[in-house]
Amino acid sequence: MEIKGYIEVDIQKCKGCQLCATVCPKAVIGYSDKTNDKGYYYAIMVNEDCIGCGNCAIVCPDSVITAYRAAKK
Ligand code: SF4
Ligand code: SF4
Repeated sequence: MEIKGYIEVDIQKCKGCQLCATVCPKAVIGYSDKTNDKGYYYAIMVNEDCIGCGNCAIVCPDSVITAYRAAKK
């Protein structure tokens, strides 16, 4: 069975550093075209290919990503 996952980003805490996107094996992470309250373009999912590996959550310096290994509800 195909592995499915998804992430949740605490968008107001994201500083748009883009580290998370560089470690994603599935190129799931892109950036919003709107800014959060601090003026940063926050991380978003741009496709449904996430496998819930957690790389992005581990690398985020501010721990604002939670990765889930499950189909998105
Ligand atoms: S959990 Fe893995 S596959 Fe999903 S967005 Fe993060 S790095 Fe990419
Ligand atoms: S690594 Fe964290 S702070 Fe940086 S863009 Fe990704 S979610 Fe935002």
